[in-house]
Amino acid sequence: MSGGILFLIVFFSAVAVFISIAIPIAINNDRYKKFIEKHSTAIKELNLINDKYKFSPIPNFDMKHSYDNENMYSDISCWDYLTYQLVYIQKDVNVALRNTLINKKLFDEYKKEIQDTCIFSKYDTDEVLKNQKKLDKYERKLFMKVFKTPVVDFKIVVVLVLTNINGRYRQSKYDTFTAREIKDTIYRINEKRGNFYLNNDVWQSICRVERGKVTNRMRFFIYERDGYRCQICGRRTRDLEVDHIIPITKGGKSTPNNLQTLCHRCNYRKGSDIY
Ligand SMILES: [Zn+2]
Repeated sequence: MSGGILFLIVFFSAVAVFISIAIPIAINNDRYKKFIEKHSTAIKELNLINDKYKFSPIPNFDMKHSYDNENMYSDISCWDYLTYQLVYIQKDVNVALRNTLINKKLFDEYKKEIQDTCIFSKYDTDEVLKNQKKLDKYERKLFMKVFKTPVVDFKIVVVLVLTNINGRYRQSKYDTFTAREIKDTIYRINEKRGNFYLNNDVWQSICRVERGKVTNRMRFFIYERDGYRCQICGRRTRDLEVDHIIPITKGGKSTPNNLQTLCHRCNYRKGSDIY
């Protein structure tokens, strides 16, 4: 019992000591912070400079996609996936690329003007606080808060994830693409004659990603819709496959209305008719 009382006495005196030390320190720190906010000429100059520079916000184009089929996951590279998506989003990406370049140029001017104008540890008052180290610390802290940090380095991160059929994570891979690589890819995508891509790598990438859109989940949906029967010979066999009615290489998409159930034999024959 006396042990309990002793504990309480020690505990409360520790709290009292803590409060009597912490509160004056906090009040003192607040005084330094307010002094900087009010009197730092560097931060006043920075605010004036900030008003002159308008940086463009750069949207995030990072991509993430999940495959529930190990073959698709291993077949498709991050670059394949990027290429496929750039076909659709290249306009917005081009705008972002341009704006990032403008930001970069502007940011260099911004930093130079700050360097030429902002002088630290200079205050527009006669009031004196003696702890210079503390003043410098708060001035740097506030300065970094007010300092603008626009996006000046454009990149896209592509993450591909392998899951099981129920969506549970198994593994993943990722790649980061620089502005230069993205621009090159867009350029190659646009080397077309009519609907045909002239760059074979680009075309192969697009076909791989389109093929990869047939998930295992979708595959079973198509089998079920077709009554587990080959849509050419009508057989119900164990070796059913999902076939693109208009082949991907002819511009067909991986949408249910372009997919049908075929047995391996009919699919093979259909394949040899086309090529
Ligand atoms: Zn068949």
